[in-house]
Amino acid sequence: MNPESTLIPAHENPFESMMSRFDVAAKILNLDQGLYNVLKSPAKQVIVNLPVSMDDGSIQIFEGIRVVHNINLGPAKGGIRYSLDVNLDEVKALAAWMTWKCAVSNIPFGGGKGGIKCDPRSMSAGELERLTRAYTRAMIDVFGPEKDIPAPDMGTGPREMAWIMDQYSRLVGYSSPSVVTGKPLVMGGSKGRVEATGRGVMVAARSAMLKMGLNPFKSTCAVQGFGNVGSISAKLMEQQGLKVLAISDITGGYYNADGINIKEALAYSAAHGNQLTGFTGAEPITNEALLELPVDVLIPAAMEDQITAHNAANIQAKLIVEGANGPIAASADQTLNDKGVMVVPDILANAGGVTVSYFEWVQNRMGYFWTEERVNRRADRNMKEAFEQVYQTSLHHGCSMRIAAYVVAIDKVAQVTQLRGGI
Ligand code: GLU
Repeated sequence: MNPESTLIPAHENPFESMMSRFDVAAKILNLDQGLYNVLKSPAKQVIVNLPVSMDDGSIQIFEGIRVVHNINLGPAKGGIRYSLDVNLDEVKALAAWMTWKCAVSNIPFGGGKGGIKCDPRSMSAGELERLTRAYTRAMIDVFGPEKDIPAPDMGTGPREMAWIMDQYSRLVGYSSPSVVTGKPLVMGGSKGRVEATGRGVMVAARSAMLKMGLNPFKSTCAVQGFGNVGSISAKLMEQQGLKVLAISDITGGYYNADGINIKEALAYSAAHGNQLTGFTGAEPITNEALLELPVDVLIPAAMEDQITAHNAANIQAKLIVEGANGPIAASADQTLNDKGVMVVPDILANAGGVTVSYFEWVQNRMGYFWTEERVNRRADRNMKEAFEQVYQTSLHHGCSMRIAAYVVAIDKVAQVTQLRGGI
């Protein structure tokens, strides 16, 4: 076991959090024990040590991980995270979530995830480039347009994807844009990809609000996290007519009872090194207090385990839409269910990103690019259909949206595993 996983309390271990929900869904499905074992076990786990020469002339070793959880629906798909918190248990959970996310969204991909234990904010562009290229070289037998297709995640973006595409292409000897998604537009990225996750969160939130009879023009919202997902979710929720009372980033939370002007907050953050410190359009609150505000819609879009058994009882939102992966720990599920909070789970709510990654891969393979309007229309439709299927499944089994999403996903991957056979 990775020694780091012992630092995380057992009930908040992200892989166990994922498995406890998996277990409930597997029981509803009456899943065969053999298939259960297949679906819970990651297919491949690769851990590498990457030597990188730093700007000061020293050599540092970084740990890189790639987990391929399941490839029955198609090649593995999932982002790469640069963070000091990266550890094998976390990457395993994130890879499994990608399997369920793709299955629930009807995308022909399996699930994978990667990570490098590093602090990207303290590294120069040159150091990050050498690290990204070293990781790609180490994963040359893992990655491939038909095998495992990385994408951005926390701490990475189009710049890192460009390096991966270039390094992989150099090694195979030809240009291979479809090996990675989330690339810059000029080198084969898809229109709409940058906004896709936040846009999907907004569409999922609107679908849920429709079911709950919540009028967007009379509703309030709080968004935790102001990175790619949080900032765009906040912007689009505001555009839908909601008052965004609070936003936050690593510098803390910002609250305005009359609603924050998100355009101003975006401009402020962009002009201040992607940080909101000193933003005057709101008063400071803590990230914890933001979660407990009396808003209609709460969007946790920062990181894992923000809502746990410790604060679940204090949540006042009627609807939570998980922009991040795993922001609600399994220990909070029951309390939120008992309070009647509707939770649109991560594997459904933030699937807009991987959906447009799939469109990027399709466009790269066709060599023909779509308009932004076409990308958005298809992504929105996909999200609405996936939402409806999960909603109907939750009514059918009398279970939460989270468990229903797992039921839909596990059922599909189990069926395909059985049809493919060969075990
Ligand atoms: N990292 C994103 C996620 O967790 C996107 C993955 C992808 O586009 O492959 O869904």
